[in-house]
Amino acid sequence: MKRLRKYSVPILMLAVFETIAVTLWLTKNNIFYLFNFSYIGLSLALGTFLFIRQHKYARRIVQLMVGLYMLIYLGIISRENMQIEGFWYYLFTGVFEAATIHYAVAKIFGPLLFGRGWCGYACWTAMALDFLPYKVPMQPRKKIGWIRYTTFAASVVFVAALFLAKVGNIERIMFWAFIIGNVLYYAVGIALAFAFKDNRAFCKYICPITVFLKPMSYFAMLRVQCDKDKCINCGKCKRVCPMDVDVTDHSRKRENGTECILCMECVKNCPRKAL
Ligand code: SF4
Ligand code: SF4
Ligand code: SF4
Repeated sequence: MKRLRKYSVPILMLAVFETIAVTLWLTKNNIFYLFNFSYIGLSLALGTFLFIRQHKYARRIVQLMVGLYMLIYLGIISRENMQIEGFWYYLFTGVFEAATIHYAVAKIFGPLLFGRGWCGYACWTAMALDFLPYKVPMQPRKKIGWIRYTTFAASVVFVAALFLAKVGNIERIMFWAFIIGNVLYYAVGIALAFAFKDNRAFCKYICPITVFLKPMSYFAMLRVQCDKDKCINCGKCKRVCPMDVDVTDHSRKRENGTECILCMECVKNCPRKAL
């Protein structure tokens, strides 16, 4: 019983994803959904299981398992555009498939449950950026987060323009938009990481998906909390946080609270086990 309680988070995660997998398989009559969400659920459950077992690379393992699967299998081999323009494309065509389901689960409604877990454990852009040398930001945060709204708007305008201009074979354009978009994301992400000495600069200032992720994760059920009775205000948690979150503040309004990617670096490094 004690062991079951210890592993309740990976068990719950697996159960949630299996429920989604079976529901979509049966309602959409497509076995791909069973395979897809079971694989992602298993990867995430494995990651949290390894984290509980204090495996050093738990998060990186799951990040590579999910990120590479989505980038190479879904994006390149299956030619599904899972980027934000793919979401708009399926939404405008009124099809609840591929990118629309992915966004609903991982980026719009899922964050109500697991916050920005997507950003810590599954995103294929961050999967590469996290290999760079600035795991902890070496410079203060810049006030340029507004850029994300322009990239978000640009993605809507791009897809809307294709529909308004009645361009043919949009499916093919979406595939190339995925390839070119990813190359651009990696190039800008790497350049910014070195310019700002911060691996996650792209996430903080440019990524359009945060327009969905931030407000939804404000209400997340799963969040790192601080036991004030144990905390000695040593500040270590803030120094190791890649997203500049003030995790010692218990409230949802804490500084950069909607930026937390649940990487658990603060938890691992707290000398008093207060998190
Ligand atoms: S902010 Fe964007 S690029 Fe960064 S991890 Fe999240 S989805 Fe990926
Ligand atoms: S690392 Fe732990 S003890 Fe130190 S400030 Fe953070 S929560 Fe408090
Ligand atoms: S270090 Fe802690 S507060 Fe910062 S992103 Fe990771 S889990 Fe969230």
